[in-house]
Formats: sequence, C-alpha cells, structure tokens
Amino acid sequence: MKLKEYGIVKGIVRCETGLRIGGSKDSLEIGAMDNPIIRHPVTGLPYIPGSSLKGKMRSLLEIKAGSFQKDTGRPCNCGRCDICILFGCGDPNKSDQMTRLIFRDAMITEDSETKLRDAQGEKGLNFAEIKYENWIDRNTGKAGRSGLRAQERVPEGTTFNFEMSIRIFENDNSEKFLNKIKEGLNLMQQDYLGSSGSRGYGKIKFVNLTYNDKEIAI
Ligand SMILES: [Zn+2]
Repeated sequence: MKLKEYGIVKGIVRCETGLRIGGSKDSLEIGAMDNPIIRHPVTGLPYIPGSSLKGKMRSLLEIKAGSFQKDTGRPCNCGRCDICILFGCGDPNKSDQMTRLIFRDAMITEDSETKLRDAQGEKGLNFAEIKYENWIDRNTGKAGRSGLRAQERVPEGTTFNFEMSIRIFENDNSEKFLNKIKEGLNLMQQDYLGSSGSRGYGKIKFVNLTYNDKEIAI
C-alpha cells in the first residue's frame, strides 16, 4: 500500500441543544459535580474527543448498513466492508488494510471560549451549564430517593472546530470515501452526540464544511 495524499475535512460543530460527554471525576474533590463533562486538563475548557465523533459516526453508519451488532455493541470487524476499511478493523488476521480516517479532538472555537469566559465571570459558571433532572422511581411514580440529579452540559450554541484527515492510498476511490463521510455527518445531525440523546441532549449541526479547503454540502 502506497500513501498518495491526505484529504482534510474541516468545519464547525454547533450544539443545537445542550451536549453532554461525560468526563472523569477521579481528580475532583469530594462535593464537586457528580456528573462532570470532559474538559481539557490544562484550560478546563470543554472539548469533543475525536473518539466520540468516530465512535458515533461508525455506529450510525453500521446501523444504516445493517451491520451493527446490538448484542455485543462491538463494531463490525469483517475487515472487508467500506466501514471497516475507513474506520479500521480490530482484528489484524482479517484485514491487511490501514485505517483511513483520523478524527481530531474538536476544540472549542475562540468565539465560544469568549462567551463561556464571560458567563463564568458574570454567573460563576464553570464553562458549562448544570442541568437538574428529577429522577422518578417507576414503581412508586414518585421522585426517587436521590431526588434531583445534577448533570453538567455544554450549553446550546457552543461551537467547536471539527477536523478529520483521510488517508488516501493509490487505487483508493477518494470520492467514495468522502460520500461515506458526508453520509455519516448527516446521520450524526439527525441522531445525537454524547449521552441522554433521547431526552433532548446532544443535537448537533455541522456548518462551514470544507474538503481540502473547498466548500462541501452534506
Ligand atoms: Zn466490516
């Protein structure tokens, strides 16, 4: 396999509703938020991990193609289908292909960083909103013992810089790859990112998309 070039897809991911991608609370003190979002370790700013974007796009494409394994939750590892070629196959015995897609972490845009910093100054928010939800015990129909459950979310309207690279080898059909990516981006807009999507979280929109600096539509 000989690498010919890289194709670069760029754009903006905009949160159309609050977005929650869970982080770790290991390093936080007792009394801190129970359900924190993932943040950059140095700046404390929220970001969207490339792994979240990759995992979601892959599973939606597999659901559409009918190859999603709901029982195991594991990705297809046939090593032959378009999705295995693009996203990689975990089983080296089944594929001699190299993974084509590289998803970058989507860092917050300057514009959103400024807005969240202002909100931090004015309202004391930690670059996120805190959403309280009633936990209802389905047996009694009453609010559960824990009562209100607090969850951190990235506020609606926040934007992140989206970027991915496509490794294009000799004999690859780059147009076919790009079409698959467009399909995946489209599915992500119709579905959700992060958690609690069926309860209104995680609606996203991709805007200002380009492929090798030329505008593309999805
Ligand atoms: Zn496969």
